[in-house]
Amino acid sequence: MAVESTCRQWEAKAACRGPHSGEFFPPVRGERRDEKQRREVRAKAVCSRCPVMNNCLDYAVRIREVHGIWGGTNERERRALLGLSA
Ligand code: SF4
Repeated sequence: MAVESTCRQWEAKAACRGPHSGEFFPPVRGERRDEKQRREVRAKAVCSRCPVMNNCLDYAVRIREVHGIWGGTNERERRALLGLSA
């Protein structure tokens, strides 16, 4: 749909495209807390140099994305932005 593709044109400039993409969501096999923390640090480092970080965070908060790193935040941090309990 044209409206949706226009709304998400920022994704074409995402720094997480390509080899970094696996860092942004937990592995299917699950992960320990320390593994999650290290993965999120790596993902957030990519976000910190992403030219569309604000667009990404706005989108994730708007749709209430509950999984992964978006706009330099994890799911708990986005819940806090919404004023919801962590
Ligand atoms: S802010 Fe992070 S998750 Fe969002 S597009 Fe950029 S690199 Fe990807």
